[in-house]
Formats: sequence, C-alpha cells, structure tokens
Amino acid sequence: MATIAATRLAEALARIKAVLGPKGWTAEPAEMAPYLADERRLWQGRAALVCLPASTKEVAAIVQIGAEARLPIVPQGGNTGMCGGAVPQSPDTVLVNLRRMNRIRALDRLNDAITVEAGCVLADIQNAAEDADRLFPLSLGAEGSCQIGGNLSTNAGGVNVLRYGMTRELVLGLEVVLPDGRVWDGLGALRKDNTGYDLKHLFLGAEGTLGVITAAVLKLFARPRTVETALIGIRDPAAALELLARARADSGDTVVAFELVPRACFDFVLRHIPGAVDPLAARHDWYVLMEWAGGDLGGALRERMEASLGEAAEAGLLRDATIAASDEQRNALWRLRDSITESQKPEGASIKHDVAVPVSRVPEFISRATAAVEREVPGVRVLAFGHVGDGNIHFNLSQPAGGAQDQAARTAFTARTHDINAIVHTITAELGGSISAEHGIGLLKRAELPHYKSAIGLDLMRTLKRAFDPHGIMNPGKVL
Ligand SMILES: Cc1cc2nc3c(=O)[nH]c(=O)nc-3n(C[C@H](O)[C@H](O)[C@H](O)COP(=O)(O)OP(=O)(O)OC[C@H]3O[C@@H](n4cnc5c(N)ncnc54)[C@H](O)[C@@H]3O)c2cc1C
Repeated sequence: MATIAATRLAEALARIKAVLGPKGWTAEPAEMAPYLADERRLWQGRAALVCLPASTKEVAAIVQIGAEARLPIVPQGGNTGMCGGAVPQSPDTVLVNLRRMNRIRALDRLNDAITVEAGCVLADIQNAAEDADRLFPLSLGAEGSCQIGGNLSTNAGGVNVLRYGMTRELVLGLEVVLPDGRVWDGLGALRKDNTGYDLKHLFLGAEGTLGVITAAVLKLFARPRTVETALIGIRDPAAALELLARARADSGDTVVAFELVPRACFDFVLRHIPGAVDPLAARHDWYVLMEWAGGDLGGALRERMEASLGEAAEAGLLRDATIAASDEQRNALWRLRDSITESQKPEGASIKHDVAVPVSRVPEFISRATAAVEREVPGVRVLAFGHVGDGNIHFNLSQPAGGAQDQAARTAFTARTHDINAIVHTITAELGGSISAEHGIGLLKRAELPHYKSAIGLDLMRTLKRAFDPHGIMNPGKVL
C-alpha cells in the first residue's frame, strides 16, 4: 500500500512540475523553509512541493492533478496569518503560493472597480488605486507583505473597518479554482445582482478550505481630500467609547480609524522599535489613535477636530492630545500602532486572542478578562489593544517580565495557553462576542470552535465543506 501511495505521489508531483516549469516550483528544503514556518512560529509545516503558479490555468492544473491523486492542497498568500491557516501539515501536501500571480488586470474608474490577481500585495493595490486618484481602503499592519488572496480568505479587518467595513464588503466579484480543478468565473463587477445565492461570500473568510481564490474585483472609493490624525491620552476604555461617539457626531461621521492602545504597548514599542518616540509629554494609562478623513479642502476638518478635542478635554474625556502636523508625523503615529505586534516578540512568549464583543461592552470585557488572567498567571503582561470602534480587541498576553531568554519560563507560560484561552473566550461568549473577530480559525482555534458555535451552524458549515470538497483535500484540518 505504502508503495502505491508513494508512486501515486511521485507521479502527481512529476505532472505538476511539468505543468509549472522550473520557475514554478521548489522542493529544496532551504527554499521551502520560509513557506513552511508561520508568522508566529507556532507551527512547523511539512509539504512535498511548494508551487508558485503564474496563472489561473496553472492553479487549475495543480488542483486537478492533486484532486485525482487525493493530495492535500494548501493555498498560501503572504503567510502573515495569525492562526496557522496556511501551514501545510502532512509531507504529501502540495502548497500553492500565489505570489507570482500579482498582476492588476484592470482598473475601471467609472465603475470604481479594480480587478486584481490573488497574489497582489495589499500595498500594491492601495498604490494602484491612489495612482488613479482612488482609494482602496483595506489597511492593516501587514499590508506590505500580505496578499489580497489571503485578505479575502481571512475576510481581513484592519484599521478602516469603522468606515468601509471588512474585506467582504469591498468585493464585487471573485475567480476561484474549485477543489476538483474547475474554475468558477464569478468576476462580475456589478453592484446589484440578486440572481440567487451570492456564491462569492462562501469563499470569503473560508481560509482556503473551499477553493483557491485566483482573482477578485474590488470596490474603489473616492480619495479623501483631507486626513487628520490625532493621538489622544485618555483615562480608560470607557472614555474611549464616549470620545468615539462624540467624534462621530462632531466630524459628520468621517471617523475612519479609532484604535485603542494601552501604555504597556507603547512601552514595548519604545523599547524595541528603532526610532520610536514617546508621542505625548506625559505618560497616560490609555491612548486612542484616531483618524478623520473628509472631502473639505480648506482646513475645516482640522478645525473641527481641534474643537471636538477641546470640548472633550473640558468634559474630562481626554488628558492630552496631539494632531499630526505633517504626513511624516502622521506616519510616525501609525508606526507606533503598527509596531505593537513586532515589539511583543522580544518580550518572550505570548498568548494572543482576537475577540469581538458589542462595542458598548468593550470596557467590561477588558476589565473582566484582565483581572481573570492576572489571577491565573501572576505577573502576566496584558496588552489589550486594537479596533475598539469595531468592538474588536487584540487581547494579547506576554509572559511575566524578565524571562524572555529563559526557555523554561517561555515553555511554562505557553503551557497555560489552553486554560487562558478558556478563561478569555468564556468571558467573550458571556458578553455575546466572537472568539475570532478578524484573524480566523485556522489551526489555532479549530478545537475551540465547536464550544462557541451553534451545533446547527457547524452542521451547515460541514455540509458546505462536503458539497464543495467531498474528498477533503482543500486545506485539510483547518477551521473544521
Ligand atoms: C503585523 C501584522 C498585523 C496584522 N494586522 C491585521 C489586522 O489589523 N487585521 C486582520 O484582519 N489581520 C491582521 N493580520 C493578520 C494577517 O495579515 C491577515 O490575516 C491577512 O489577511 C493574511 O493574508 P496573507 O496573504 O498573509 O495570508 P496567509 O497567511 O498566506 O493565509 C491566510 C489564510 O488564507 C488562505 N489563503 C491565502 N491565500 C489564499 C488564496 N489565494 N485562496 C484561498 N485561500 C487562501 C490560507 O490557506 C490561510 O488559511 C496582521 C498580521 C501581522 C503580521
């Protein structure tokens, strides 16, 4: 039996290699290594072949050959995912990385739409939109390396969800290679189409378990003429919500980003990120990074922001604030926020949660979850930050200070992951929340999903998976 399986694998791999040509694959361990390790170094993947297809036709051929030989197929984008969704888990896996499929196929200014291949890096799409005086609003810390195929497959969130919605809301059409190798051409650019089930939504957020996305038509928006960015020192998360409600009203609903950051995050960033500078004269327990974007050309938005912050200060809602005076200052403020994840690495082992609760319950979530984990692991360092305007908090924990270089201390901390997750996710569920706001399930939360999703919901998901992928070859072991 083993010989038949080995022969079948060797034959399938030989056929795939022939389709792709020498530039389109690697089986060299050193070349494969970056594709097999995940962003957080939590898993070490295994695969028979890393494929780098250059066209939809090549992806379809790989999948068809893989399906005939019943080989696991794992789609991969920029490999920046946080939950192991792109990690291949068995040695016969064919990993399909889309990075060579990075063409912008078309940009239709009058339809405000851009057609892109799945391997386009997110920042390149943002730049292409800007070159056409348009905005593609999806924006996240990994935008210089994540690919749109990965963003679509994780239904990524990011910092502009408040105004423009999740990735799902930015999509007009998709092209997908199905698990049997057929190509579904759903690349429509329509804003209205009520002709039955909206199939594209099944692939968005599916984490590569239903097919390989090869291209998409995305919505573009008018570029805001004025952007004002403020960093604000506040008392606590409850003040942040009051401030958000006020800012929305005062700005004429032009708040595009509203990020909550505790002081502990800035301490990490200042310690580890070269060039980072403390943003305000005094230390504050909590901060908000807020951005307004609007259409006025005459400086009125800034005046309105100054007035709004002044009134908020009088009402006791903020302690200090700075409004960026240049693009350089604005970028520096965003760098502080975007460096949080990176700055956590040298602080030792971490346990991370990406939860959502109703916006109004964020303060309760943070105070309850913080107290609970501090009881469980004395000295744990809590970094509860993120997209508070969406009710989405990255509840990240770093091991107690001083043990970053001590392997035993790291291991002891990560050994608590299961218990800590149960504590944090139980509180999340009690507040009517979700255990995955934007990063997805992948490998990380697969075992937990059944505890937090309804039985009927899970049954429907399994039914869909069987219908699309009866042999279970597409990203097996992920999500379900
Ligand atoms: C510094 C940093 C900041 C981040 N900030 C955010 C944030 O604010 N919001 C947020 O949502 N995420 C964030 N992330 C997580 C990550 O960047 C996103 O999940 C991103 O969407 C993943 O894209 P990727 O191309 O790296 O996908 P990968 O990691 O390569 O893959 C992710 C999943 O998508 C599947 N997949 C990838 N490409 C395809 C395809 N073409 N077809 C089908 N399936 C595919 C994979 O199998 C896997 O399950 C952050 C990550 C980092 C490192």
